[in-house]
Order: sequence, then structure tokens, then C-alpha cells
Amino acid sequence: MAEYKAPLRDMQFMLNDVLELEQHYQSLPGCEEATPDMVSAILEEGAKFAERVLSPLNQVGDQQGCQFNEGEVKTPDGFAEAYQAFVEGGWPSLAHNPEWGGQGLPESLGIFINEMVGSANWSWSMYPGLSHGAMNTLEAHGTQEQKQTYLTKLVSGEWTGTMCLTEAHCGTDLGMLRTKAEPADDGSYRISGTKIFISAGEHDLAGNIVHIVLARLPDAPAGTKGISLFIVPKFLPDAEGNVGERNAVSCGSIEHKMGIHGNATCVMNFDSATGYLIGPPNKGLNCMFTFMNTARIGTALQGLSHTEWGFQNSLAYARDRLQMRALSGPKHPDKAADPIIVHPAVRSMLLTQKAFAEGGRALIYFAAQQVDRAKLAQTAEEKQEAEDLLSLLTPIAKAFLTETGLESASHGVQVFGGHGYIAEWGMEQNLRDARIATIYEGTTQVQALDLLGRKVLMSQGELLKRFTKIIHKFCQSQTDNEQMQPFVSALSRLNKEWGDLTLQIGMKAMKNREEVGAASVEYLMYSGYITLAWLWARQAEVAMRKLTENPSDADFYHAKLKTARFYFERLLPRTRTLAEVMLSGADNLMELDSEHFAF
Ligand SMILES: Cc1cc2nc3c(=O)[nH]c(=O)nc-3n(C[C@H](O)[C@H](O)[C@H](O)COP(=O)(O)OP(=O)(O)OC[C@H]3O[C@@H](n4cnc5c(N)ncnc54)[C@H](O)[C@@H]3O)c2cc1C
Repeated sequence: MAEYKAPLRDMQFMLNDVLELEQHYQSLPGCEEATPDMVSAILEEGAKFAERVLSPLNQVGDQQGCQFNEGEVKTPDGFAEAYQAFVEGGWPSLAHNPEWGGQGLPESLGIFINEMVGSANWSWSMYPGLSHGAMNTLEAHGTQEQKQTYLTKLVSGEWTGTMCLTEAHCGTDLGMLRTKAEPADDGSYRISGTKIFISAGEHDLAGNIVHIVLARLPDAPAGTKGISLFIVPKFLPDAEGNVGERNAVSCGSIEHKMGIHGNATCVMNFDSATGYLIGPPNKGLNCMFTFMNTARIGTALQGLSHTEWGFQNSLAYARDRLQMRALSGPKHPDKAADPIIVHPAVRSMLLTQKAFAEGGRALIYFAAQQVDRAKLAQTAEEKQEAEDLLSLLTPIAKAFLTETGLESASHGVQVFGGHGYIAEWGMEQNLRDARIATIYEGTTQVQALDLLGRKVLMSQGELLKRFTKIIHKFCQSQTDNEQMQPFVSALSRLNKEWGDLTLQIGMKAMKNREEVGAASVEYLMYSGYITLAWLWARQAEVAMRKLTENPSDADFYHAKLKTARFYFERLLPRTRTLAEVMLSGADNLMELDSEHFAF
């Protein structure tokens, strides 16, 4: 039976030793309370909830799925009770503003908890996950009254939220959306249209659902400049702010889909439903970016979750499953055969999962620290620096970690052989669940265009330069550390190459804009491999130091060093192919006429 165990030892290593969380929290006003002891206690409680309450519901959720009946959705057995326990445990309010009922802990702490919750049961985690984005959007752009009415209920977990962007004819290209918002006499709006693929659009977990909806005002300019953002609650709040009259928004059906069966993916019909404008008219997409950025880090976490889950279960199986003998002679002569973990090709899959899990964790936690700094840093300069870093790292984290999550989940199936392909062990569920992550919240292709086109080239390489400078400084700081040379020599060479390649693509793009699209996906993956190399080199450096300071935990640190070596020697070389492909230009993609693809 597949299960999940929160990787607390690795989380602590990342937080305390690599990212120096104590110093980080002490430097931010309002975060001083988050001492290492407190963080540790919260993580342990979160781990218990994930392991004991959510993990046992993961396979149940997949097998039962959500049931649709006359506009209502029943979630799988145990989902509603687990949500109730989550609310009673105070988890939804952890990282939110005390003014609206939150516990005021740093945003990053919520992200660490989300890793465990998401790894244990991704489908379930999406219900509170979408609320989190709705809360951030309301906090950033809502009026005081809207915050009082909606934010407090979302923070307490009594109500949940959604994000309603997609329509049948527009997914990536939101400029084409048609949902209408007509002003009413009382200052509210009447929202009409149909949204599709709305996660958690209808369910039985909470008393009300607050939809955050993109729609067009009458006479709004065409395209993305004419989109506004609205709150459309399932039930309109009464005078006391409690659930009141039913609004004209309803779920028309739910999708039958490849994975994440426990999460309802809904068609939502807005039939002149009452809505309230959030933020200025026609600036909805800007406001929605607050939601989308939260959601993108959240989706990057999904990649990590499937990697970690796949790794844990693959490892247990590979230690147990007996097949064939090691090439160098039996390792367990007392047994009928050796466990498959002795075979180099199986180890390659396990180490790939492990390297992506621990590297991905470092990337998400580093991004989480930038979220804290962007919100709370003492100076405007430091805030800007964190925002810039986050803006560069968000598309990398989202697309790279979901692509590697998919690869890792697929290795999970392969490690189990035929037993991975059948449903019993949960490996095929992990792969099916992982598949959506490269699609929603901006596909890999769209994240790649965002990274190369908008973030890198449009800033004249400035955002990238700031990040490569950080990597460069790290490499320089290791000049006298002989043991680190295998890592830093490769890292500094690639760090320089990153800038050179960007320049070459930028030059080509001045002659032909298609060069950006043609290079973008490989460019993003290449960027991901270097970013993880930096984070693996940092982990290796800390592990080397700790080996002398704390030899009692030597096995853990040796494992870190060996995994870092695996990453540098077996995964980082993928950058060679990526560099060659991205420089091969746009012609090999564009010269075949659309009508001649097939005869
Ligand atoms: C299970 C599930 C849950 C979802 N949850 C939500 C939700 O809660 N709220 C919500 O609003 N939406 C949600 N979505 C919608 C999701 O965000 C969209 O499916 C996604 O944005 C892609 O849009 P699309 O499906 O219309 O694909 P399209 O936009 O039609 O894209 C099709 C293909 O073309 C590629 N493509 C498009 N434009 C370009 C370009 N310029 N360059 C390169 N490639 C391009 C895409 O990468 C993709 O491979 C969900 C979808 C699913 C399946």
C-alpha cells in the first residue's frame, strides 16, 4: 500500500542550514516569533496531518472521484471531514494577516506546510490551495468592506475560493474572454457567461464558495486591456456577513479526466449573477496576477509533490523487490535474487527522483523566502530585489519542476515494472495526477515565453544578470575550497554560458521574432538545470561543513554529497543538448508549411 512520510529531516536541513531561516525571519518585521523551535513544532504537526489524515484518502479520492448530481458535487469519502479537521486545526489562517483573523506567520511557512499537504494528497490540497490565492488577491486589491466580508471567512476556512479565467474558446489567450459584467444600480454588477475547467468550483467541503472571476465591462477595450476582476459568491452574504440568498451561479457539470479525480473540475454558469468589482475597471488581469503568481508557486509545488511521493514509494519497492543478480555478483546470496536497487539503471531512476526532489525543494523554499522579502523587507530596494528575483524564478520553478515532476512520476511507474502500470500501488495515479501540472497555471510553453521573452529579453537581460551575479558570487566564495571545485567549476562555466546564449538568441530575435518561441522551452529547461545546480552546490557546501561540525549525522551529509555528484555528472549534462537545440534556430521548425505536415 502506497504511503507518504513527510521528509522532515531534509526540510530541516534546507531551512536551518542551507537557507538560514532563523536569520531570514529575524530580519523581517513581524516574523521574529517564527523561531526554529516554533517552525519545527508547526512542521511536525503539519506532517502528522498530512501522513495520518490526508495520505490515506489519496487513493480513495482517485477511485471514487467527485460525483455530480443536479448542480451539486459530492467529494470522495473523507474529504469533507479532513477539511473540517484542517479548519479546526487553524491551518487555513496560518500565514494570513491578523487583521482578517490570520495568525500572522510568514508566507513561507504556509508553503512548507503546503508541500506536505500536497504530497500526501494533491487533489484534496487544491481546495484550500485555491482559497489561498483568492485570499492573496483580496488582501492586495479588495476594499476594506470586501476584506471584512469575504477575506475573514476565507482566512478562517469557513468558505473556500476559486479562480475563474478559462472559457471554452480561450485558455492561454485570455484577451479573448467574453464573460460580461453589466453595472447594476446598487453599485454591484450582473455577471453572465460560462467558465470551464474551474477547479473546486462546486463541492461539499465549505458553507460558501467565493469565485474570483474575470469578465468584461460594457465598452471595455478589446483584448487583455479590457478585463476586470469580480467577486461572485455562491451565496450572497446577509447583513451579518453570513451565508444568505443563493446567487445565480451554478455548476453545470464536472469533467471526467485523466487524473486528480478527487478535485472537482467544473463548468460554471453565471446567469446574471451578482458580482462586485475588485480593483480598478479594466485592470483585472493585473490584479489577477497576484492570484496567478501564488498559484504558480503552488503548482511548482505540485511538481515537487509528485516527485517526492514517487521517490519514496519507488525506493521502498526497489529495496524489497527481488529480481536478477547484480552484474558484479550476488549482493544477497541468501535470497532468491538481489533487490532491484542493486542495478545501476534502477539507481539512475531513483537518484534522478531524489535529486529533483531535494533540488526542487531548495528552489521552492528559496522562492518562498523571496515571497516573504517582497512583502516585508525593510527597504524598498530589498523589496524590489526580491520581487525581481521572484519574477525570474516563478516561470522556471513552475515549468521546470512540473516537467521534472512528470519525469519523476514516470520513473516511479518504471521502477515498479508492470506493477507500476496497474492501479494497486498508486504509481499510475501519481503519473496521471502529475500530468495536469505542466498544463494549468500557464503551460510549459507559455512559461517559457514569459521567461525568455518578457522577463529576460524585455529587461535587456537585467533580471538574469542579477541572478547570475548571485551565482557568480557563490562560486567566487568557494575559490579556496578545494573539495568544492568539481561543483563550482561546472557551475561557473554554465553561469557564464547562460549569459552568452541569451545574447546570441537576443541577437537572432532582432532579425526574426520566431527565434524566441523556437528557443524558449529549451531555454527554460536549461535555466532550470543551472538554477538547481546552484542550489545543489550550496547543499554540497553546507554538507561538507556539517560533516566536520556534526559527524554524528554523517550518513545524511554523505548522501547529500553523493546526490550532488550524481546531479552534476548525470543530470546537469542535459544542458549540452538543450544548448545545441536552442541555438539550432527557428528555421527547422518553421520551414514546413502547416498544410504539408501530413499527406
Ligand atoms: C484539471 C484542470 C483544472 C483547471 N483549473 C482551472 C481553474 O481553476 N481556473 C481556470 O481558470 N482554469 C483552469 N484550468 C484551465 C487551464 O488553465 C487551461 O487549460 C490552460 O490555461 C490552457 O488553456 P487551453 O486548455 O485552452 O489550451 P490552449 O490555450 O488552447 O493551448 C493549447 C496548446 O497550445 C499551446 N500554446 C498556446 N499558445 C501558445 C503560444 N503563444 N506559444 C506556444 N504555445 C502555445 C499551449 O501551450 C498548449 O500546448 C484547468 C484545466 C484543467 C484541465
